[in-house]
Amino acid sequence: MDNFTQESQKIRYDRQTLIENWDQEKIRDGKVIIVGMGALGSVAAVSLAMAGVGELILVDFDTIEISNLNRQLLFRMEDIGKSKVEVAARELLKINSDLKVTALNMKIQVVPTSDLETAEVIVEGLDTFVDRRWVNSFIVEHNIPLISGGMFGFLGNLQVIIPRKNACLECQSLIPEEELQKACTPFGEQRKESRQEESVDEVIPSVSSVSFVIGGLMAQETLKILLKLPSLKEYLFWDGSAGVFTAIELSRREDCFVCSSEYQLNAIPVRSAIDQQIDDFIDQLRYSFNLGKEMIIIHGTITIDSSKEKLSNLLSSADIIRVIDPSLSKPLKFEISFDS
Ligand SMILES: [Zn+2]
Repeated sequence: MDNFTQESQKIRYDRQTLIENWDQEKIRDGKVIIVGMGALGSVAAVSLAMAGVGELILVDFDTIEISNLNRQLLFRMEDIGKSKVEVAARELLKINSDLKVTALNMKIQVVPTSDLETAEVIVEGLDTFVDRRWVNSFIVEHNIPLISGGMFGFLGNLQVIIPRKNACLECQSLIPEEELQKACTPFGEQRKESRQEESVDEVIPSVSSVSFVIGGLMAQETLKILLKLPSLKEYLFWDGSAGVFTAIELSRREDCFVCSSEYQLNAIPVRSAIDQQIDDFIDQLRYSFNLGKEMIIIHGTITIDSSKEKLSNLLSSADIIRVIDPSLSKPLKFEISFDS
């Protein structure tokens, strides 16, 4: 960096470096992934680019629709039909040409792990519970802080998850059963097609004013993590109608199958009656762990399919089974014990 550039950089960030404990080098060296380039992702991305965050990786598989324009800051009429992340990357470079920005036009589940695990923070403004659950499972596994935000009408919410330090998204049952069942093809094009037929954007009430409140806070929490400052501990709920923020303390669940250290390392014990049929056992797992219809149970190299057969004909006590659910980034491991 020559003297002139150094000086202009200094002046550019002059006002924020006046903030106590600010360290522009930490911000410049920061690498942040933003998953979901909708209303919240756009606001957070703009704010982080302006603050001088060194590298942003944008992940979203959607294209821009006219109904996005009331709140998705980076898109214009001429961008309709284009990839959200590609347009966002182009616009963010206009805001700050020093930014290194990568556009990944794909679902988060298919981004190579090597592209995700080096991030210092992941910011998510996703619009489905299933994708959000997958990201939560991933960040706990790879020990990356997550900033999670949501909005609905005049309401908004924000949560910072520091893996194994505070409650993860799975510590509370925030995922309604019907949401899990909705996403029957979360990996495929079919889901994208069904979204286009019945646009999610049109059915969720949302306005830009709320995305600026929540997206701004998401960026702020991201900057605090890059600066190694303490993060928001509580779940923050914004009621824009009443103009009230409520901070709700959430505690970690000892038996959380995503973030408790015991279940990270060991198998989760699960009991079954000696005469229990396989289809009943599958239902038991589904309801106990909020799993989707697509879950697959594997014992060794064998898949256990739904049937009226007794589970005890296939398995013995202490056998380990693995359950793959598309909403989780790694399989769940269970140890069976049979009640005689
Ligand atoms: Zn948890």
